Amino acid sequence: MGLEKLNNLYREVILDHAANPHNKGKLAAATHQIILNNPTCGDVINLQINLDDQERIKEVAFTGEGCTISQASASMMTAAVKGKKKEEALKMAKTFSDMAIGKDHPQADLDALGDAQVLTSIMEFPARIKCATLAWWALQRALLQESDED
Ligand code: ZN
Repeated sequence: MGLEKLNNLYREVILDHAANPHNKGKLAAATHQIILNNPTCGDVINLQINLDDQERIKEVAFTGEGCTISQASASMMTAAVKGKKKEEALKMAKTFSDMAIGKDHPQADLDALGDAQVLTSIMEFPARIKCATLAWWALQRALLQESDED
């Protein structure tokens, strides 16, 4: 894609996350886990989450492969949700997916996303929306999975 079309600062943040991903690796044990892929681009995310008994994300890690956007997004997402409560993390995932399809949210919601807010402008690149949202879908699906079983 035209990463070069992105604002320079955004591009730098994305490339930095892709080169030095946060929370990349495997957890010894996870309360929630999911593998999702984006067939249109070949991106794969294997996400593991450990919730403590307060439903707070104590640990989060991912492994995966794919394009720069998908891997940077996973790094940004895990960095943003680590230490957050399950409901907060789900709210962040909603903010991200809404923004990715062009629905606005208040600035405070965007600030809560940390570095991930640079990718919320991805709807300017329709072909890459799935790459950017894959990690957030994985988060949502993984966290909601267990509540379905309760
Ligand atoms: Zn991709």
